[in-house]
Amino acid sequence: MIQLYIPLNFLGVIYREIKQSLADMERLFSLLEQNREVADSPGAQPLRTHGARVAFSHVEFSYDPKRQILFDVDFAIPAGTTTAVVGHSGSGKSTLARLLFRFYDVNQGAISIDGQDIRSVTQESLRAHIGIVPQDTVLFNDTIEYNIAYGRPGASKEDIVAAARAASIHEFIETLPDGYATMVGERGLKLSGGEKQRVAIARTLLKNPDILIFDEATSALDSKSEQAIQEQLKEIAKNRTTLVIAHRLSTVADAQQIIVLDHGRIVERGTHQSLLAEDGLYKQMWERQQARKEEELGSALEVEEE
Ligand code: ADP
Ligand code: MG
Repeated sequence: MIQLYIPLNFLGVIYREIKQSLADMERLFSLLEQNREVADSPGAQPLRTHGARVAFSHVEFSYDPKRQILFDVDFAIPAGTTTAVVGHSGSGKSTLARLLFRFYDVNQGAISIDGQDIRSVTQESLRAHIGIVPQDTVLFNDTIEYNIAYGRPGASKEDIVAAARAASIHEFIETLPDGYATMVGERGLKLSGGEKQRVAIARTLLKNPDILIFDEATSALDSKSEQAIQEQLKEIAKNRTTLVIAHRLSTVADAQQIIVLDHGRIVERGTHQSLLAEDGLYKQMWERQQARKEEELGSALEVEEE
């Protein structure tokens, strides 16, 4: 059961912060129903998927009417494929994820899944079909088992262990003093960034959604853990409709489609190869990141030579 031990006004503050980062939002929605900005429409039906093609159709959106954030955003993610969204910070990438999860409703246009406008389906069913791995996974002050099972309340121990194995965190858990009963979170054992992301992956595997959102899921990790987690994310994205929001372009190079957002508009789209050939914003960003990588490599070598 969920324990409400924090005053509600304080929860409101946390809610806003967390909403911003996309972290942990599913649990918060169940906690704070009264804070919902969108409601089920009368007669809302459960979402039914067959492959889960996601379409943003001419979407316009603003948080504040005085400042529009998205302009005529129009793209589709074919069922079972991966689309990456890249662009400078503030260009509107996370906003796309928030809209797909229906934190907010679009002002113009529509978002649909297998032809069903997400405003016409129940929020519960919509969110049951979407798994999110955020940048920084927030763990609940509870056991590591609870934290994994959160992906599917009521899951059996066998399923939890299977998910942990698949997320390569089972062996680590076995080394903990209390195994799966070890308390984690702010008041328990602190996990590293990579371990937390593995918990998030296990959670998502257990939930087994047909749509995935990775919002800069590895950007808080060092490059070694990033690579390992990246491999796992690639594995769980197989055959699922996936929206990847990425900071480092090297992590999106093999996406079937890459969308480049600039100030809320799609300015380029294609594959890594076709975008490099286009000589636009993507190529600029790519070259800048390559140069930075070489710089880092250079300074690392200097340190070693000392
Ligand atoms: P990105 O993920 O590409 O860095 P975001 O989608 O988070 O960008 O934000 C796009 C723009 O929307 C930014 O200018 C940001 O300041 C603004 N924004 C994000 N969340 C809110 C909000 N809750 N209220 C008002 N403006 C917001
Ligand atoms: Mg973002």
